[in-house]
Amino acid sequence: MRHVTFLRPNLGFGTPHDAMAPLVFAILKGLTPNHIETHLIDERVEPFAPVRTDLVAITVETFTARRAYELADWYRAQGVTVVMGGHHPSMCPGEAAAHADAVVVGDAEGVWPALLEDAEAGRLKPRYAGGMGLAEGRPLTLDRSVWAGRKYAPIELVQAGRGCRFACDFCSIHAFYGTTRAMRPPDEVAAEIAALPGRGMIFFTDDNLYWTRDTFLALMAALAPLERRWSCQITIDMARDDSLMAEMARAGCALVLIGFESLDPGNMRQMRKNWSHVGGAYEDVIARLHRHGIMVYGTFVFGYDADTPAAYDAAAAFSIRTGMAIANFNPLTPMPGTGLYDRLAANGQLLSPNWWTDPGYRYGDAIFTPRAMSAQALRDGAMRARGRFYATGSILSRATRGLRHWGARPTALMLLANLLSRREIARKQSRALSSHAPVDSTREARI
Ligand code: SF4
Repeated sequence: MRHVTFLRPNLGFGTPHDAMAPLVFAILKGLTPNHIETHLIDERVEPFAPVRTDLVAITVETFTARRAYELADWYRAQGVTVVMGGHHPSMCPGEAAAHADAVVVGDAEGVWPALLEDAEAGRLKPRYAGGMGLAEGRPLTLDRSVWAGRKYAPIELVQAGRGCRFACDFCSIHAFYGTTRAMRPPDEVAAEIAALPGRGMIFFTDDNLYWTRDTFLALMAALAPLERRWSCQITIDMARDDSLMAEMARAGCALVLIGFESLDPGNMRQMRKNWSHVGGAYEDVIARLHRHGIMVYGTFVFGYDADTPAAYDAAAAFSIRTGMAIANFNPLTPMPGTGLYDRLAANGQLLSPNWWTDPGYRYGDAIFTPRAMSAQALRDGAMRARGRFYATGSILSRATRGLRHWGARPTALMLLANLLSRREIARKQSRALSSHAPVDSTREARI
């Protein structure tokens, strides 16, 4: 076997303006033996233009499953071996197996070298159990050259760990890893950052950067001397201790993404996230983060039993009032494998159980009927809240207040991120998950 293609399908059609480089393929490229040539196709940033290949490895999310299956079927018709991995095949391995020669359940890197050896020897297994790819004593070796020549969001991706110790009922991370958590040694992470060629903003791809106080402080201590600006996803329980925020700011933290999810305590209990208030009232936590010069990117979900359409308006008003830099307002999405999906299915609330392959499903559509509003109101409320938050007046007033806390450069970044978010919201809404033209049959000769 001489050629492997890494494939990242797009969601719907069009080019997103905020596509981040696919980290998984830098990891797999780093583990691919030198005698195998690799090629990347990332449909989000380039047209699908297949090249000669013996095997294609497709990373699949639930939202890209439909397009991934179309492409996989096309490759198999050309006699190319198809391997699928990622969140969606891990949750629905039987479904993915109908379109693939092998499915990896869990992280692929732990099994990638063995899988390639099996493919070369003609003994590929239908399923590989990847488990948690990060392991003690196995350094993460990335080869970022796999992304060369492609235009991604100008942000450096780094991973310090994986998994989360919480168990929110809607969370696909929890469905994927359970409560298994793994962290890289802080000095290994710092060495990777120090070796990056650019000095741009870093984004930690960790599902939750805060594990324990001690591990977090060790990471902050390793990051501080690098004098880099970074952002991360983090749980709000870190706000229990103001000194942690001070350490984050000292280590270069510019922005935190926090899943606030809901302003209703009953909803928080239902989603098993009622621990979220241990750091204090949301408003207070945001104000403290701002005092440390850290921007807040807040996310909210709607459709739990207490939510009426007014919940959208309250969350948008709260996000504007507290001066969040960015915010997301999303109808609850029941991902396969989650407790939420199982509960809604058992209650007969799902409108389309396999919504990800349903040709009638459009991005942003309600997937279930909530208790206290119609499916239509669930869909429309999200656009109304986004419209309020990303209105020009709201952006300017949040930026003006932000200048006091964050300074000029972060505020300029915040303005740019708001304009990009506004454009992406309009671009994605109501698009089919695969509106691509069928794969061009004239490509056949090139495979
Ligand atoms: S805290 Fe976040 S990452 Fe952790 S289980 Fe809940 S939603 Fe998932």
